[in-house]
Amino acid sequence: MKRHAFTAATFTGALLGAAMFSAPAVAQERFITIGTGGQTGVYYVVGQSVCRMVNRGSDEHNIRCNAPSTGGSVANVNGIRSGELDMGVVQSDVQYQAYNGTGNFEDNAYEDLRAVFKIHGEPLTVVARSDSGIEHISDFEGKRVNIGNPGSGQRNTMEVVMEKMGWTTDTFSLASELDAAEQASALSDNNIDAMVYVVGHPNGSIQEATTTVDARLVPVSGDEIDALVEEYPYYAKATIPGGLYRGNDEDVDTFGVAATFVTTADTDEEVVYETVKAVFENFDRFKRLHPAFENLDEQDMISQGLSAPLHEGAKRYYTERGWLEE
Ligand code: GLU
Repeated sequence: MKRHAFTAATFTGALLGAAMFSAPAVAQERFITIGTGGQTGVYYVVGQSVCRMVNRGSDEHNIRCNAPSTGGSVANVNGIRSGELDMGVVQSDVQYQAYNGTGNFEDNAYEDLRAVFKIHGEPLTVVARSDSGIEHISDFEGKRVNIGNPGSGQRNTMEVVMEKMGWTTDTFSLASELDAAEQASALSDNNIDAMVYVVGHPNGSIQEATTTVDARLVPVSGDEIDALVEEYPYYAKATIPGGLYRGNDEDVDTFGVAATFVTTADTDEEVVYETVKAVFENFDRFKRLHPAFENLDEQDMISQGLSAPLHEGAKRYYTERGWLEE
């Protein structure tokens, strides 16, 4: 990890150097930590998959990668900023707000945030118990709703939606703040009526929710949503295809963002270069690691959904591949 980047190899190298003057330098091993999300979401798989590609080449580049579960997008930006994380997966709206100092990052712009690539689409997904009487997000009033843990991307996006709808937490009979990975069991245990998740599909969390209880994905639409999509460049209308989850055969209209991969300008150019190289040189293998990655396209990944500048190491690789102009 960048700011705690002293390593066992440096230390051994120093000892060897002292003992045997002519010993060859021991290559320095570098560790990177990627912030993800809950274990039943897609970010966790993104982090694990990037690390799998990077770690395949550790013998050559001496970079070792790990990707722990975290609280989600906002926690990942904050973790990169504090130096606890080197890279992370964040929603495109959160990337924009953090870099430009808007929304929850008002007066707190993070100018060293750097984009690396875009990944899958993430529609705002509302799942309600079938016995809850919720058939549309506008039925949330008086219901028990999990608005997401602080630090998660869904909480950040949900706050924008709530403001637009004129809602506060008092609008609901309960506004819980459960982590993403706890939502599905809370729904099936009847502790909440609805869960909100900004997430790629299909995913383990919603699979769990819809198989353990009768639950449906409900539309997120209407004038307020149209206004949000109109107002902000990072929101777009989205459709969650029918047939992905038990009891949910119809397409559902909503709006959404994209998942993006980010880092800080402080991360070594070589480390970012090797990371993107590992992903794009094993791209078919990478895409097979999750159905949400199936339709990823290199050109879209480096040109869409990114509002912070590209990191120099990523730029170098994309230019080498001829995907960017010199
Ligand atoms: N979009 C969610 C967040 O930013 C995470 C989704 C996932 O883990 O796949 O917190």
